[in-house]
Amino acid sequence: MNLLNFISQYPDEASCKAKWKEYREQQGVVCPKCGSTEHYWKSDKENFECKRCKYRQSLRSNTVMHGSQLPFRYWFIAIHLLTSTKKTFSALELKRQLGHSTYNPIWAMLHKLRLAMGKRDAEYDLKEIIELDEGFFSTEMEEKEKSKPLKRGRGSQKKTKVLVMAESIPIEGETTKRGKPRKVGHIKMFVINDLKASTIDTKVIEHVDKEAVIDSDNSTSYTNLKILVKEHRPKVIKKEDVGKVLPWVHIAISNAKRMLLNTFHDIQPEYLQSYLNEFCYMFNRRYFGEKKFDRLLIAGISYKNEFRYNIK
Ligand SMILES: [Zn+2]
Repeated sequence: MNLLNFISQYPDEASCKAKWKEYREQQGVVCPKCGSTEHYWKSDKENFECKRCKYRQSLRSNTVMHGSQLPFRYWFIAIHLLTSTKKTFSALELKRQLGHSTYNPIWAMLHKLRLAMGKRDAEYDLKEIIELDEGFFSTEMEEKEKSKPLKRGRGSQKKTKVLVMAESIPIEGETTKRGKPRKVGHIKMFVINDLKASTIDTKVIEHVDKEAVIDSDNSTSYTNLKILVKEHRPKVIKKEDVGKVLPWVHIAISNAKRMLLNTFHDIQPEYLQSYLNEFCYMFNRRYFGEKKFDRLLIAGISYKNEFRYNIK
């Protein structure tokens, strides 16, 4: 969707609310009190009223907009900008674009959207053949770490560990200098605190199909993978060959680093996951074209879906 289409489809607050309501009804409004899915729409209060227990919830309740005071149109503009451009936006830039006076609500909006992206991607397992490796991303040191004497030449940056996995399917064709050609599917990236086998195992159990095959180096962090999936094929990989053996993981890592460098300064380690959620979400939907806008609206509506699953 280009900017002109966006402006004509969503010219005002009412048009955004109407779309949000339409998608909420399509996804199913659930009563947080009794779990009923039958509601009346109270247009005067803009509330859904539970037919069974009369509990009322607003249009924003239990979605990514829960508790937000920002206009619906801000959310729609943010979703439009994130899904229609090849770049991402810092909260500062979005604040300027919106002409909003305060920074924090805009920052919170972007982070909630990134959280919604992460939750949506977490619903899918990686399948078939998967490349797996770690990347090290530069982040800011915490204040307490800064007080420690630094080694010469090192700034106040540290490296945050990220587990990266990419579906990577061999395709027919001749072997090139870069090795056998492979096609990339979905990717996932997770900030991890350490490289212990148990840490890696947990992520693989949660996010990889049991029938998958994993390619990686022969690090001791991966000793249990053979039990967790159909096949683990650890290889001794020389540093200069890593791009040949695990091509997509390393292309993804360098693209993610470039995105971060171009847009953000001083990334705090605790927020790195949020930016990686966005990078993976957009990468995984790179062929969705104009559908990306509506898909992110829907991801925002089903944001609290863990709460839905708890309902009997
Ligand atoms: Zn109810």
